[in-house]
Amino acid sequence: MNFASTKESNHNNGDDSGGGTWVLGIDLGGTTIKFGLFRGDKLIWRNHIRTDDFGSPEAAFQSCRDSVERTLNESSKTIEDLHAIGLAMAGVLDPKAEALAETANLHRWHHLNFRQQLADVFQKPVALLNDADAAALAESAHGLCRANSLVLMTLGTGVGGGVILDGRPIRGANGCGGEIGHATIDFSTDARMCGCGFPGHLEAYAGSAGVIQTANEILKQTDAVSALRGMKSLTPLAIANAAADGDSIAIRVIHQTGVVIGRSIAMFAHVVDPDVVLLGGAMTFGGPGTDTGKQFLQSIREECFPRTLVQISSHLKIEFATLGNDAGIVGAAHYSRQMAGETSWPGTAIR
Ligand SMILES: [Zn+2]
Repeated sequence: MNFASTKESNHNNGDDSGGGTWVLGIDLGGTTIKFGLFRGDKLIWRNHIRTDDFGSPEAAFQSCRDSVERTLNESSKTIEDLHAIGLAMAGVLDPKAEALAETANLHRWHHLNFRQQLADVFQKPVALLNDADAAALAESAHGLCRANSLVLMTLGTGVGGGVILDGRPIRGANGCGGEIGHATIDFSTDARMCGCGFPGHLEAYAGSAGVIQTANEILKQTDAVSALRGMKSLTPLAIANAAADGDSIAIRVIHQTGVVIGRSIAMFAHVVDPDVVLLGGAMTFGGPGTDTGKQFLQSIREECFPRTLVQISSHLKIEFATLGNDAGIVGAAHYSRQMAGETSWPGTAIR
């Protein structure tokens, strides 16, 4: 079993010198369950387990509980001191059944009520939210570009999103609010087919497979010399590396990807009117601190701003996300505190 833990040496270690209630943030992904103990806003300790090591969610959650309990005991605390739990999960959540309605990586655990199972194991209230919403909420409350109205776009194999309005995640009636990757951006008859089965969606152009398709299409249109030509495993990372070396085709691919993302931001900015749009995920062409990442961001801004009302474009910030891998547990923990403070508690109140 892969079982590693990290104590946050720069943070309060759980003694009584710090303030705030104890909450647990859990990020349940396709391969890993990450979890972190928070006291107030401070991440005290984090850990992770592999989902493949467990036959059922209950067994995985029991392992989490054992690990959390040991850590709390080290600080002379018990599970009783845990105020609430936030659970962030990949995939589309059915808001009524509180189960995974659709996800790429957890097929064997489909249609299970994770929130109830987690509440049963810990005997604590559990607040459930989509992982992209959790990441967006974390950025909104704790990132470098904090804002009450914020949209996070996550770029990777798929294109996901989380929308925060007035400091709260918005998921809509069917759990699909913020699924920016499945918004139509190409209405032509020869639009690319999205992995979801519908044509013209953003993900077919800005997801990693879409970016590779863009590269192959541009390579076919020209005889220009390019490091990408004939490359056995063409990836967004290889494209970013080639662009960093001045490869004109790779630079075009990144620009074209920025253009489609900029257009989609220009579209939803008139629905949401956010203060900030953040780009996160694994596919940001190097992200902040690299020239290719900066060029990518510049292409997005240059396409977006001229298409938006001046009241929006004069204030809207488009930047990279800053919280990285911790965003899921930070957002889940923050959400559990938000929900615990509400009069109509939507968590599974056990006690
Ligand atoms: Zn789609």
